[in-house]
Amino acid sequence: MSNHKIISLRQEAEVSNQSGTSLVGELNPSFRIVEIFESLQGEGYNTGMPAIFIRLGRCSLACSWCDTDYLTYSVMTLQQILDAISGYTARNIIITGGEPSIHPHLDVLLTVLKQQGYFLCIESNALHEISPLIDYIAVSPKYCYSSRYTQHIIAKADEVRIVVDPMKTGLPPVTSATSSLSKIEKDAGEMQEKLSLAEQMTSANNEALQGLASQMVNADIEQEFINWCLWVTQHLKAKHYFLSPLEVNGEMNILQTIALVGHLNKQHYANPEKYPHWQLSIQTHKFAHIQ
Ligand code: SF4
Repeated sequence: MSNHKIISLRQEAEVSNQSGTSLVGELNPSFRIVEIFESLQGEGYNTGMPAIFIRLGRCSLACSWCDTDYLTYSVMTLQQILDAISGYTARNIIITGGEPSIHPHLDVLLTVLKQQGYFLCIESNALHEISPLIDYIAVSPKYCYSSRYTQHIIAKADEVRIVVDPMKTGLPPVTSATSSLSKIEKDAGEMQEKLSLAEQMTSANNEALQGLASQMVNADIEQEFINWCLWVTQHLKAKHYFLSPLEVNGEMNILQTIALVGHLNKQHYANPEKYPHWQLSIQTHKFAHIQ
């Protein structure tokens, strides 16, 4: 959307509120709303920041491990959204999804929220351009769709968070290693020693630990993942880079994730001009039992 169009929408949206009844006047488009709630930002650089979350429906990707039901939403008008957030105290709004940047009329919503003085953050998959009305951009490019990103990735963000997704190349999910053991054996090849560790864990029937062991035998795939993360840093400039563990059925591949953070930072310390520093980001809200 051009700046001219945004200003025009702002003018329409700035309908007088002298009566205190409506801020949106005749411009009252509808939005696909999965949920609106107030909480603390649980992950990334702004962890702990009080915020109102507006989760929009639909997405441009379909990650197999996605934990958001972005297709179950209600249709709410702009005025209904404003009414919904009016009772909350946070002055930061996190627009999330699904993929919020593909939503029609998003700039109308952002314009009115900005007019009301909110600090606007967005969480996006980095495939689509982000409105200049956003104050803080957090993106999460998806390794499982790496070929899509070679066609297009946004150039700038405040924060990049990449989920350590071992499933792109058919690796087992973190908690279902037992059923996939034959595939691990095939892939492991010369790494017999580590495979026997995975087999021992099979007999112990400890699926969570076995999942971690199975991840350890995939050095080639991990190298591919590292290369992809480095590729992202060369094409998407950000102030902060994070790796996040994948969570499936309550289990997270934290060991694999911190090991990969270490590998990436080896590159950083070898060539700090070229490669940025990486940190771990965990979805702390899940440990804190908040939304
Ligand atoms: S991009 Fe995010 S919201 Fe969309 S499918 Fe992937 S994990 Fe789910």
